[in-house]
Amino acid sequence: MKIGFIGLGNMGAPMAANLVAAGHQVTGFDLAAPCPDGVASAASAAECAAGQDVVITMLPNGAILRSVAAEIIPAMGAGAGFVDCSTVDVESARAVAADAEAAGLLPVDAPVSGGIGGAAAGTLTFMAGGSDAAFAKAAPLFEVMGQKAVHCGPSGNGQAAKICNNMILGVTMIATCEAFALADKLGLDRQKMFDVVSTSSGYSWSMNAYCPAPGVGPKSPADNGYKPGFAADLMLKDLRLSQQAAEAADADTPLGRHATDLYRSFVEDEDGSGRDFSAMLPRFEKRHRDG
Ligand code: NAD
Repeated sequence: MKIGFIGLGNMGAPMAANLVAAGHQVTGFDLAAPCPDGVASAASAAECAAGQDVVITMLPNGAILRSVAAEIIPAMGAGAGFVDCSTVDVESARAVAADAEAAGLLPVDAPVSGGIGGAAAGTLTFMAGGSDAAFAKAAPLFEVMGQKAVHCGPSGNGQAAKICNNMILGVTMIATCEAFALADKLGLDRQKMFDVVSTSSGYSWSMNAYCPAPGVGPKSPADNGYKPGFAADLMLKDLRLSQQAAEAADADTPLGRHATDLYRSFVEDEDGSGRDFSAMLPRFEKRHRDG
């Protein structure tokens, strides 16, 4: 396929490189980052999008997605696919999809999980929202860039799945970290804590696959000085999106709200920025009952 790829940062560059390796003809555009090897460079987003079978965007946020979409939608031909893999607010995803559909395009919102490692290895999970025809158009590309793609329903539902998943992740990581810090103070060995919880009803991905305690459980960012991994800053972004969506949908999410507050303090007032999101454990270690 002829593919335009806009946003060649930490995630976009390796995804575009995997499409090239699979034999697709890829043209890229980014305001700052260089095109990876094998990706032809366009002078603007509109030039990058013109005449392509599918255009993929991998951008920082919804406002930027909306401005790029306004530029590229008029440049694209009817029937082309528009696959946005960025994590953005549900409202922006739905607004951009509506504009794209009105122009005869096939839009899919398809945020990913799997991080930079998954992008490089081609093992991302895509959570997709859009029509059956739009999903079918994008599916062969999901197969190249990822190992699983779930069609979650109409436009915006990919973003909805992503922020609900990451709200659970933020809450369970905090729960796991505060429980380790309590266990420490009760004199319980961390390895014993892991052995029990990872095979008991407190188990979760945060404990079993991404244990926040160094030297315990499988290798994780905790074993690498809490270098991300999945940065606390990105967890804060996703938690904020979950609360924005909860506000708009009138959903009561008390733990999601509290997790957002904790990651906000950690990133903005403490030393969390640039550290892995599991560095909540050393944060709790230093603290006492009342602050
Ligand atoms: P990044 O900042 O490394 O890349 C974004 C790129 O977009 C940058 O290179 C920037 O120059 C470019 N850009 C910004 N505005 C532009 C414009 N108007 N036109 C063209 N290019 C523009 O971010 P990333 O880590 O690659 O993340 C991209 C998206 O993926 C985000 O929405 C993020 O939330 C999501 N995501 C990231 C991860 C991760 O682990 N990094 C995991 C899952 C999802």
